[in-house]
Amino acid sequence: MALKFDNTEIAFKSKSSHDLKRAKLLFNMVSNSSMVRIGRWLTDVAFSIQLPIKGIIKSTIFKQFCGGENIKECEKTITTLNKYGVGTILDYSVEGKEREDDLDSTVLEIIATIEKADSSMAIPFSVFKPTGIAQFSILENANEGLNKLTEKELKAYNNVTERFDAICKAAYELDVPLFIDAEDSWIQNTIDRLCEKMMFKYNTEKVIIYTTIQCYRWDRLDYLKGLHKKAKENNFKIGVKLVRGAYMEKERERATEMGYKDPIHITKEATDNDYDLALEYCVENLEDISICAGTHNEDSSQFLANLMLKNGVEKNGSTNIFCSIVGNERSYKFQFIE
Ligand SMILES: Cc1cc2nc3c(=O)[nH]c(=O)nc-3n(C[C@H](O)[C@H](O)[C@H](O)COP(=O)(O)OP(=O)(O)OC[C@H]3O[C@@H](n4cnc5c(N)ncnc54)[C@H](O)[C@@H]3O)c2cc1C
Repeated sequence: MALKFDNTEIAFKSKSSHDLKRAKLLFNMVSNSSMVRIGRWLTDVAFSIQLPIKGIIKSTIFKQFCGGENIKECEKTITTLNKYGVGTILDYSVEGKEREDDLDSTVLEIIATIEKADSSMAIPFSVFKPTGIAQFSILENANEGLNKLTEKELKAYNNVTERFDAICKAAYELDVPLFIDAEDSWIQNTIDRLCEKMMFKYNTEKVIIYTTIQCYRWDRLDYLKGLHKKAKENNFKIGVKLVRGAYMEKERERATEMGYKDPIHITKEATDNDYDLALEYCVENLEDISICAGTHNEDSSQFLANLMLKNGVEKNGSTNIFCSIVGNERSYKFQFIE
C-alpha cells in the first residue's frame, strides 16, 4: 500500500493562497537564526516598554500555530479542518503554574475540552500535558519514588494524582479517548506511574487513556514491552501515543552538564529504527494495545500503512489506530493508492 505525500492540492486544500504565502514567509523567517535572535530581542523590548504588539503576534505567529485563546475562538478552525476531513485535538497549553488553585483551574479547562470533544464529531480525542496540572518540582522529586518526598510534597503529589484522576474520569465517563503527553526524562517516571495507574483504572474494557512513548530514548522499547506484560498480568489494556520526542537538545545538555548517560539515542537512525520497531510491536499486539502514531515522518507513516496491510487492519474502519500525521507546520493526509 503506497502512500502519496506530494499531492499538495490535497494536503493544503483547507488553506487559501494567502494562508500559504503567510506560512511560507513565516517559515523562511523562523529558519533564519539571526532573524529569530533579533525578533526575540525586539519582542522582549516591545513588551518591556508596553508597545501594543499583541495584535501583530496574534495575526502572524499565533495564527499559524494556534487555533485560538479559548474553545470558542477555535470553533472556526475546527469547522474548516473538519470540512476537509481533518480532526482537531484541543490542547489547553498552560505550563509553569505553581499555585494549587491555578492548577485546579487548568483541570477544569482540560475537562471543558473533553466535554467539547464529546459534543463534536470534529474532535475525535483529547489531550493534556502533566506539567500543566502539577508543580514541576513535585514531578521531579517524585521521579525516583515517593519515599523521598516531604510530608508537604506528598500532599501536593496526592493532589496531582487527584487531578489526573478527575481528567481521566471525565474522559472515561464521556467515552472520549485521552492522550497524556510525555515530557522531560527526569520527570517521566512520575508521569509513567500516574499514567499506568489511570490505564489500570479506566482501560479495563477498552482503551480510553493513552500514555506517550518517546522513541528517541534508548530505553523506551523495553519500557513498552514491560508495560504490555504488566497490562496482561493485571488485566488492563494499554493506549500508546508513539512519538520520537521533542526535547532532544535539552536532554543532551542536561546529561552532559550533570554527567550522566545521555538518555537519547546517539543517532537519528537509531531513533527512527526504534520508532518503527515500536509501531510493529503495537500493530502485532492490537488485541491489547491501541496506538496513536504522533509523527510527521513519511517513512514511518508508510511503514505503518504497510504494517496495517500485512496484519489485515482496515485502513478506514473502526480500528484502534489513530494516524496523526497532520500537523500545523506540514499538513498531510493519507492518500492510499490501491
Ligand atoms: C500528535 C502528536 C503528539 C505529540 N506528543 C508529544 C509528546 O507527548 N511528547 C513529546 O516529546 N513530543 C510529542 N510530539 C512531538 C514529536 O515528538 C515530534 O513531532 C517529533 O519529534 C518530530 O518527529 P517526527 O516523528 O515527526 O519525525 P522526524 O522529523 O523524522 O524526526 C525528528 C525527531 O527525530 C529525533 N532526532 C533528530 N535528530 C536526532 C539525533 N541526532 N539523534 C537521535 N534522535 C534524533 C528527535 O526526536 C527529533 O524531534 C507529538 C507530535 C505529534 C504529531
